[in-house]
Amino acid sequence: MSQITPSETKQLNLSFEDTEIAFASKNNFQLNKSYWIFAIMNLNWLVKLGTFFIKLFLFLHFPIKKLIKASIFQQFCGGESIEACNSTIKSLSDSQIGTILDFSVEGEENQKSFRSTKEEILKTIHKAHSNPSIPFAVFKLTGIFNTEILEKYQAEDKLNKQELADFEESKLFLKEICQLSADLKVRLFIDAEESWIQNTIDDLCYEMMATFNRETAIIYNTYQMYRIDMLDNLEMAYQKALENNYFLGVKLVRGAYIEKERQRAHEEEYSEPIHKEKSGTDKDFNLGLQFCLENIERIHFCIGTHNEESCLLLCQLMNEKVIAKNHPNIYFAQLLGMSDNISYNLAANGYNVAKYVPYGPVSAVMPYLFRRAEENSSIAGQTSREFALLKKEVSRRKNNEK
Ligand SMILES: Cc1cc2nc3c(=O)[nH]c(=O)nc-3n(C[C@H](O)[C@H](O)[C@H](O)COP(=O)(O)OP(=O)(O)OC[C@H]3O[C@@H](n4cnc5c(N)ncnc54)[C@H](O)[C@@H]3O)c2cc1C
Repeated sequence: MSQITPSETKQLNLSFEDTEIAFASKNNFQLNKSYWIFAIMNLNWLVKLGTFFIKLFLFLHFPIKKLIKASIFQQFCGGESIEACNSTIKSLSDSQIGTILDFSVEGEENQKSFRSTKEEILKTIHKAHSNPSIPFAVFKLTGIFNTEILEKYQAEDKLNKQELADFEESKLFLKEICQLSADLKVRLFIDAEESWIQNTIDDLCYEMMATFNRETAIIYNTYQMYRIDMLDNLEMAYQKALENNYFLGVKLVRGAYIEKERQRAHEEEYSEPIHKEKSGTDKDFNLGLQFCLENIERIHFCIGTHNEESCLLLCQLMNEKVIAKNHPNIYFAQLLGMSDNISYNLAANGYNVAKYVPYGPVSAVMPYLFRRAEENSSIAGQTSREFALLKKEVSRRKNNEK
């Protein structure tokens, strides 16, 4: 795998070190707030302790919602409703960054709850249609399908009558979502989840692609490159798209469920589907993006990553192949509140960039926020990177005031 050298970065005229651009949208107060949030998240023990007390206080109905809303919620979420995200959408758009509204509420496992999630997803598609700063919509299949049924379906266990009826109803929800996306020409990401339901998700995705991706890529499947088999899966998906004459929509990620995957493989005594080392994941991620780029006529893709090396590699390859920075089939995406140094510098350089903007009532998005905090404190490298960049910008501004 080719490594990016500093001279190549210079040749691209792109730097992820430019904190002035990265944090230009934050005033001093907002910058200091982010600084303190990442300072706390840098301390693993404090995150564990804080998570424990927040869970306890929420359980006891202590009035801490305001505090959460003014701190981590504001850092990582757009608002409690679609409308409440308007200022975030506008602020990102002022820096040429798109928004991907992500309804992050994990509802109950019943058809009523799935129906109401489906309605909310339809609203995000309408919103994307009405606002050119929203290039994609997104959802998780487990928001509209029962996870146990997806799992049984994949394991080829016989579904009972009720399960079969629920599965068919959820499939109608899926079709309705994809149909609206196609009618309104809003590109739609379907997130990837755990390996024991992912084959079912893949099959459903390809069925939708075969219907809705005839003229362009509307439906995008997600490929987790931490999985040993994923590069082959990506190549097979491409062949299938060629044979059946549709466009392949690809969101490339490393994968978010590593601990769960390893634990289950260990408990059920099958070999882990995940690369043994991070270097294996990194290698496949970078090969995956090269594969997509080589087949850009058929594959429309987005890399969802906070990894600077992978982002630079894609920029470098686009440069080598003389592909326009704002080529409509290529996107970079990060999560709101993270890796602004990547998002804002890429956008300032003319690349297509979007941020996932999670939203939902504070109490309902808490599981998402806990995961963010845990992930940030466990990936020490990433948090200390965020923290170092914020620190750099705080002192740059202080020096400028002198
Ligand atoms: C816009 C966007 C959309 C996303 N959508 C999804 C989605 O649909 N489904 C999903 O699962 N995730 C999704 N993610 C999360 C993503 O999969 C990663 O968990 C996260 O982005 C961290 O990886 P990275 O590429 O940013 O960077 P890095 O920090 O360089 O990589 C961290 C990742 O490397 C892998 N890794 C770490 N240690 C090891 C190890 N020892 N062995 C093997 N691999 C290792 C893991 O995947 C880990 O998450 C999304 C992320 C973004 C930014």
